[in-house]
Formats: sequence, structure tokens, C-alpha cells
Amino acid sequence: MLCLAGMLGGALWLYQRVTVYYLTEASARGENTLRLATATLRGQLARYERLPELLAQQRVIGNLLVAPDTMARVAAANQYLRATAGLLGASDIYVMQLDGNTLAASNFDTDVSFIGGNFAFRPYFLDALSEGQGRFFALGTTSLKRGYYFGAPVRVDGALRGVLVIKIDLDEIENAWGGGDYEVVVTDPEGIVFLSSNPEWRFRALQPLTPARLARTGATRRYATTPLSEIPHQMTAAAPELALMTVPEAAEYVVVAEPMPDAGWTVNVLLNTASARVQARTTVSVGLLLVVLAALSVWIVRQQRQALAERLHLQRSAREDLERRVAERTAQLGAVNTALKGEVAERRATETVLRQTQADLIQAGKLAALGQMSAALSHEFNQPLAATRNYAENAQLLLDRGRVADARENVGRIVSLVDRMTRISRHLRNFARKPNAKLTEVELAPVIHAMQEIMAWRFEATGAELKLDLGPAPVRVVAGPVRLQQVLVNLVSNALDASEGAADRSLHLRAEVKGDMVRLILRDHGPGVSPGLGERIFDPFFSTKGVGKGLGLGLSISYNIMRDFGGGLSVRNHPGGGAEFTLTLRAASASLEAAE
Ligand code: ADP
Repeated sequence: MLCLAGMLGGALWLYQRVTVYYLTEASARGENTLRLATATLRGQLARYERLPELLAQQRVIGNLLVAPDTMARVAAANQYLRATAGLLGASDIYVMQLDGNTLAASNFDTDVSFIGGNFAFRPYFLDALSEGQGRFFALGTTSLKRGYYFGAPVRVDGALRGVLVIKIDLDEIENAWGGGDYEVVVTDPEGIVFLSSNPEWRFRALQPLTPARLARTGATRRYATTPLSEIPHQMTAAAPELALMTVPEAAEYVVVAEPMPDAGWTVNVLLNTASARVQARTTVSVGLLLVVLAALSVWIVRQQRQALAERLHLQRSAREDLERRVAERTAQLGAVNTALKGEVAERRATETVLRQTQADLIQAGKLAALGQMSAALSHEFNQPLAATRNYAENAQLLLDRGRVADARENVGRIVSLVDRMTRISRHLRNFARKPNAKLTEVELAPVIHAMQEIMAWRFEATGAELKLDLGPAPVRVVAGPVRLQQVLVNLVSNALDASEGAADRSLHLRAEVKGDMVRLILRDHGPGVSPGLGERIFDPFFSTKGVGKGLGLGLSISYNIMRDFGGGLSVRNHPGGGAEFTLTLRAASASLEAAE
């Protein structure tokens, strides 16, 4: 607001200064006009100034004044004056007697003839008589025409006889004025307009018409009977020596004036200020516009700079933010890295411990297997051995008694028992043998029977039974017979373990042929595999059996063996209870069969 007020004040001040400047300029133009006008007027007056004196010396004039009643002399004077007025371009020339009566006039033969008129009241007459020269401007009382009067005394033989007057017309000069944005006004000493380019102002006063003024004017009858009035106006000063005149409902003018003391009047030039004021307004408006434009430009540039600075600041802060985030991230990554290193170290330590544990477990497993094996072997071999001893002792007794036939029978039993032990030992050897990596075509039934033979003692011990369903036709698969048997022994052994304590201890083993795959499914009626364990039971060393009992290696080894065969091993809990293990095997191909 303060800025706006300042700007407004500045604009006003500037407007005033500029207005004064243009008004001064107008005033200078006015001065020129004024000089021209005064020069013209002076020239015009100068042309006639000396003429009355000259004419007054003419004999025809002197003769008239010596004998005023002589008609011939009056006529001669009239003719002379008319001719001379025509020659000089004067309005009127006339001769007055000492009492002011007009004797002869150039306009003697017109309606407004001055002859007989008495103009003794006119200053030009009085001055001519008293001072030898008279000058006056006035409206003719007879002709009612304005004019400038020059009077000169007429002397005859040194005696004052009368006055000769030349009246000149100033209308032409007045007509040449005006037309521009100025008015030329000639005022008398009382401030009353005598000549004016504006006809309305004629005989109107620019000074208050005081009674004294009116009285002075009335005495000379300068304006005859014309009623006088004032021009309503107001005078102000825009600056020292810069006078302004405002005429209400007309215009405002710059006034320049020059008095012409010789002529007794003042020449004024009034210049209309409208164009100067328009120029000032235009200049100030243009100036203001320029200032506003400049301010706007400065503002725009500042705005742009600010925007740029803001953008740079944003970019800088974004960069700093990014750098900070990168630093944070780097620090985080460093921390994670350190943590990872720690974890790796921990993992390594754990692995080492695990390896150690594994080694320990394997060792323990080996020992457990050895124990199991020893138990199995002692169980398998002790009974037949005890039976063999009994049969042998019986055979001795029978031989002593001479019952050879009975003794033979006993010896036969002994032989069969030894055969059985040989068979068991062979199976054990097979089991222990390094599995042959080569896959062959194997018939299922013999492998299952071999497994049954190995596991016979377990079945006997637990009272469980194995229900077989291998289908009508012999099923042949691609496998290693010893390893397949090993897998079956494992699964059946686990199933027997699970069936311990179960009401139904029977196991079902059935074979299914589907396309080129054979599935061997073993089901028991135990508790099944806990849902939480899932596939973990196939992990090495995973066992739920008590320490020293389970190794947790059986299923893992079996799983890998099945993978080696190009088949698989999976488990699910049977809807009717118990676990169901499925072995998947490739069926022996026709080409294989053909090759055999
Ligand atoms: P181990 O028999 O020495 O424990 P395995 O690898 O043979 O090792 O078996 C792993 C685990 O799988 C067993 O401890 C047992 O929890 C589970 N399992 C195996 N077979 C059965 C089954 N028929 N019924 C229920 N759980 C079983």
C-alpha cells in the first residue's frame, strides 16, 4: 500500500512537473505569437503615425480652417480627404475646429458622415491640442466601427486652428488572428477587450468593472454606447511567470502579455492548454507504463531467479537426501554384511558340530546295527544250533539202542537245519555286499520272498502276518535286486515297528501296473506318520524312535535307492488308518524282455 501510495504521489508530482514543462513550452510558443502580433500592430500603427502631422500642413486643410464657412473650401477639403484616405488605406480622415466640431471628412458623402459631429471629448483631440499629438483607440460614436485614431494640430501661420485626425481600421489584422489553439486579445488600460480573435470577448472586461473604471471609460466614450460586461474567468499561476486563465465552460489558457505603451494597450496571447495537458498526460502515462513494464520485467526476472534457486535448492536437497539414503543403505548393508558374516561363521561352527554329530551318530548307528545284527544272528542261529544239538544227542542215543532208522531221521533233520542256517548266512552276505550299481530286470516275487525269509523271525516275534497281492501275472521291474530287497526289508521293518501295540498287526503288500510304471504299496495299521512330520521322515538321521533303537537312515537310504532306479518313494496316511508307503518302479520294457 505504501509503495502504491508512493508511486501515486510520484506520478502526481511528475504529472505536475511535466504539465509545467509543456505549459512553459506553450507559453514560449505564445511568446512567439505575441511577438508577431505586436510587431504587426506596431508596423500598422507606425505606418500612420506621422501622417496626420504631414496632412495637417497641407494648404487645403489650413485654408479650410481659416475660412470654415466657405463651401468651396469645405468641398475642396472633403475631396482631398477622401482621395487621401483612399490612397493611404485609412478608414477615415477628418478635420476638426478648435471647439471640436468637424468641418470636413473623407466620409462626407456617406450616411455616417462625421461632418457636424463634435468629438471634443476624445483624448486624441485634447492631446493633439495640448501635446501636439494625440492617439486613441475606440469605437466610433458615429460609425460604430472600431479604429485607431491619430490626431495632429493644424497650425496656420503659427496659430493653432484645429486638429486633423486619421482613423485606421484594425479589423483586417484582427481577422488574421485566431484559427489556431490560441486567441489574441488586446485590452485597454482598464482591462476591457478592444480587439479579440474571439468575437464574443469584444468589449468585455478581464478586470472587475469598478465604478471608477466605468467613469474613466465613460469620459472618453471609448466604447460609445456599447454595454460592457465582465468575462467570467479565474486567474491562477501554474508556476512563477506562468499565468493560467480559466474561462468556465470554455477553456483554460496560458496567458502571455506585452504592453504597448505607445499605443496605450496591452496585447495578450491566450494559448489553450488542452494540447499541453494531453501531451503531459500522454508523457506521464507512457512514463508510468514504462516504469510498470520495467518493474514487471524486474519482477519476472526476480521470479525466474527465485524459481531457479528453488529448483536448485530442491535438486540439492534431493541429492543430499539421496546421498543420505545411500549412506544409510550402505550402513545397513554393512550391518547386514557383518551379521551375515557372523551367521556364516555360526553356520560353519554349527556345520562342524553337525558333522561331528553325524559322525558320532553314524558311529552309534553302526554300533546299533552291529547290536541288531548280533541279536538277529544269535536269535537265528542259536535256535537251530540248539535243535541240532538235541537231534544229534537223540541220534547218538538211538544209535546206541540200535534204532538206526530213527537215528537217520534225526540226522536228516539236522541236515535241513544246517541248510537253513546256510541260507540265512547267504542272505546276510547278500545284504552286506556292496550293491551292484548296474540295473537289471528283476521279477518282484523272488525279491519279496527273500525279504520274507530275512524278516521271518520278526514276523514270528511280533505275531504279525504279511498279506501279499502281486497280481495274476509275474511283475518285472528295472532295479538292482539286492538293493530293492534292502528297501523292502527297511519298509517292512518300519511297518512292524509301527504295528507294535496295534490291534491289527497285518501288513498288506500289493503290486499295481500302470502303463510303464509299477507301484508296490505297503500298508500297516499303526499310528501312521504324524502330519507335522511330512516329508521330513525321508531326511537322513530323522527318527522318532528311542536312542539306540532307530538310526534314521533307513528311509533316507531307501529313498535314494529308489531315485537311483529312476523311480520314487512316497508316504501318506491311509484313510482307514495306518501308514501307506508307495514304491514306484519302472516296468521292465518289452525290448528288455525281447533281449533276454
Ligand atoms: P528308523 O527306523 O531308524 O527310525 P527310518 O528312516 O527307517 O529310521 O524311519 C524314520 C522314521 O519314519 C521313523 O523313526 C518313524 O517315525 C517313521 N516311520 C517309518 N515308517 C513308519 C510307519 N510304517 N509308520 C509310522 N511311522 C513310520
